[in-house]
Amino acid sequence: MTGQQRIVVLGAGYAGLAAARGLARSMRGARVTVVDARAEFVERVRLHQAVAGQEVRRWDLWKMLGDKGIEFVRAEVVDLDPEAGLIRLGTGAELGYDTLVYALGSAADRARVPGVAEYARVLATPEDVRTLPAGPVVVVGAGATGIELAAELAEAHPDSAVTLLGASAPGAWLSARAADLIAGTLSDLGVAIRSDAEVAEVLPDGVRLTDGTVVPAATVVWTAGFTVPDLARRAGLDVDDYGRVRTDDTLRSISHPAVYAAGDAALMAGPGDRPLRMACATAIPTGGYVARAIARRARGAEPDPMRFRYYLQCLSLGRRAAVIQVLTADDRPARTVLRGRPGAWVKELIVRGAAFSVGAR
Ligand SMILES: Cc1cc2nc3c(=O)[nH]c(=O)nc-3n(C[C@H](O)[C@H](O)[C@H](O)COP(=O)(O)OP(=O)(O)OC[C@H]3O[C@@H](n4cnc5c(N)ncnc54)[C@H](O)[C@@H]3O)c2cc1C
Repeated sequence: MTGQQRIVVLGAGYAGLAAARGLARSMRGARVTVVDARAEFVERVRLHQAVAGQEVRRWDLWKMLGDKGIEFVRAEVVDLDPEAGLIRLGTGAELGYDTLVYALGSAADRARVPGVAEYARVLATPEDVRTLPAGPVVVVGAGATGIELAAELAEAHPDSAVTLLGASAPGAWLSARAADLIAGTLSDLGVAIRSDAEVAEVLPDGVRLTDGTVVPAATVVWTAGFTVPDLARRAGLDVDDYGRVRTDDTLRSISHPAVYAAGDAALMAGPGDRPLRMACATAIPTGGYVARAIARRARGAEPDPMRFRYYLQCLSLGRRAAVIQVLTADDRPARTVLRGRPGAWVKELIVRGAAFSVGAR
């Protein structure tokens, strides 16, 4: 390659920012450009707090990136042409690259069940956040997002009825102790839990379950399922059924070696022979790793394969409690669980540390 290397990072979420900052440090001669449709970095892991009415800070991306010598382009990416090494923007402009980092994150899956797109609120991106009207709320999905949202709403609005519907118990994938703590704290906050509920349809005024029962609600919030942008699929990259870019053990696309992927939009092998989870806890280290892998290859060396393990899984339960599940090296729940106020402090520190590490200071 002759001239200045052009590295374009798509997405200024946790993964894209971690990659861009790492590249700015390790690839001083390169031109690093980040593209995002938003002008601000928003802490996505606090969106449930925003729905409950709390102020969630935003950071100007020009300032965050400009301070590090990284160019920022605010535009929607509408097309990717990996054969020509080009991305096309909603503004009509094109941007050429030698190396691309694909970190476009994820959004709510509104298509899985009828009525979600028409009648449900979702909670996956800052654009989804709106304060809820008064009246009973049904949160569908007893995964981490549903649990955190139900707890936050019940704590902030103790007079509103909040129901958490899931096909299994909240926190069922964690240790029995963690799941018990979650169920106990949710109940103390007044959240009604239904753990055998499969939603067949979202209605204008509630949800209909597969057994025919109708659960009435003024607002339904759908947290059961995420999807990723279809850009990579449309561009002919090798992707999985969700559209996540399939990567090798250096997080390079297995079909297009000039493209790396990280965060929610990437399919990456993880501990215990399972793919890495869609999580901020995944996005930051994988973004950082991609920067190191690109820098190493630019120096003519082969990067070591990514080694990754999770240590904790942290779920906030309102502002006064959390459950911190310690994990084994193969990503299974260990016996140790931290809870209550100390848990809430740990979770808050981790969330602040995540933002700080990508330059939101
Ligand atoms: C309510 C909630 C709570 C969460 N809590 C936790 C938690 O406690 N711990 C944890 O580990 N994870 C948590 N997560 C998950 C975590 O937020 C995500 O896994 C993480 O944000 C993924 O990072 P990312 O960089 O891959 O994507 P994102 O953070 O989603 O960033 C992607 C970026 O790409 C941009 N983009 C997308 N498409 C386009 C396009 N076509 N053109 C231009 N720009 C585009 C977006 O604007 C966005 O800025 C939570 C998620 C939610 C919704």
